Amino acid sequence: MNLAGKDKKHIIHPWSNLGSDAESMIIESGKGVHVFDSEGNKFLDSISGMWCVNLGYGNEEMAQAIADQCVKLAYYTPFGAMTSPPSIQLATELSALTPGDLNCFQFTNSGSTAVESAIRFVHYYFNCLGQPEKKHIIYRENAYHGSTYLAASLNGKRCDRSYFDYVTDIVHATSDPNPFKRPQGMSIEDFCDLRVNELRDKILEIGPDKVACFIAEPIMGSGGVIVPPPGYHKKTLDVCREYDVLYISDEVVTAFGRLGHYFASEEVFGIVPDIITVAKGISSGYQPLGAAIFSQKLVDRISGDSASENSYYTNGFTYSGHPVTCAAALKYLEIMKRDKLTDHVLEVGPYFMERLETLMELPAVGDVRGRCLMACVECVVSDNEDENIAFAQRVDEFCQEKGLIVRPYENLCILSPPLIIEKKHADQIVDILGDSIASTMDEMG
Ligand code: PLP
Repeated sequence: MNLAGKDKKHIIHPWSNLGSDAESMIIESGKGVHVFDSEGNKFLDSISGMWCVNLGYGNEEMAQAIADQCVKLAYYTPFGAMTSPPSIQLATELSALTPGDLNCFQFTNSGSTAVESAIRFVHYYFNCLGQPEKKHIIYRENAYHGSTYLAASLNGKRCDRSYFDYVTDIVHATSDPNPFKRPQGMSIEDFCDLRVNELRDKILEIGPDKVACFIAEPIMGSGGVIVPPPGYHKKTLDVCREYDVLYISDEVVTAFGRLGHYFASEEVFGIVPDIITVAKGISSGYQPLGAAIFSQKLVDRISGDSASENSYYTNGFTYSGHPVTCAAALKYLEIMKRDKLTDHVLEVGPYFMERLETLMELPAVGDVRGRCLMACVECVVSDNEDENIAFAQRVDEFCQEKGLIVRPYENLCILSPPLIIEKKHADQIVDILGDSIASTMDEMG
């Protein structure tokens, strides 16, 4: 049996169609912005693996840092009063970069566990403060927050709701702020207020004494690169503050350079949330690492002299603060700073977006949106959703034939190239995507 056959037989892939007999594409190696499959085909990877390999592939400094830490100390328990230096150093360095007083870190091994830990912290926090009824969570349609039980229950994408079960009693959806889908004739400002008022109404409907937190991605990623109207985050944060609802900014995709800043919440959207969740880019995808980052003010209210009697924080993982993953993140931060990666993204990102917007000239393109190196092209060829989805899937196939990997999601082609791309790579991505859309238009008549 060949490798693809063995994969099919033995591995259950995330988000795979269990009824399909299609074999997986096997990516064997990578260098810079390119990856190579098991047949030796070369692809420009316009998705950074999956929003994560910010530094591109085959970075030897990263490999060396990881190897050095493996030799020095591969692992030690973070439980109770035990720790190891890389996690302390990482938390200290990150504290200088996080917004406001978000100085307290719970390290995890993924984005889902970061979200899950953030919510568990919120429940613990209100229990300690004597408000155990404050448990409810508001998320947004089209959001993506992960794949553990509770995090998955906060996913708002239609296609994510399948035969699985979800938590239903304490989670509530509100509409997403996609300006592309606003009612006809409505201004962006009025649309923003509509969505903000919906959040307020939702809090009032559930009861402010029951709502614990609101979770939002600064730019919704997997749900279709939804950039909210100006002022949306500030206004939703104000509503949360009004009702003592904690604001969790899920920056699993947006932090660590993709939008040209270490964190998007404050530097791009002007807000200091109560909690930020991160993963993916924190280690440039070289090691599995995530974190829930809490405001010092929140932590102070439930720790030290303010800690409740016998309050043990029984949340965390064997691999929380794993020395090797933290060493990888430290090296990534060092490279980011030394190579002025955020400046690079602020230069190449707007160029990438400008070039992508030229695709709006194609009749099959309904919308191009995003910011810096987080973008998507929405294909609209019909009033029938399924036809639009089929069109985008075909575009994806043409892209692969032409040596480009994009990420298809429903009728969207999602793009999140490594942060090291140069303008020539941006040109190649746009040219191949444009040709592939044109080829699909020709084929589908
Ligand atoms: N939150 C956001 C915004 C994400 O995009 C993702 C993954 O794509 C997650 C959480 C979950 O991260 P992970 O797949 O590492 O568990």
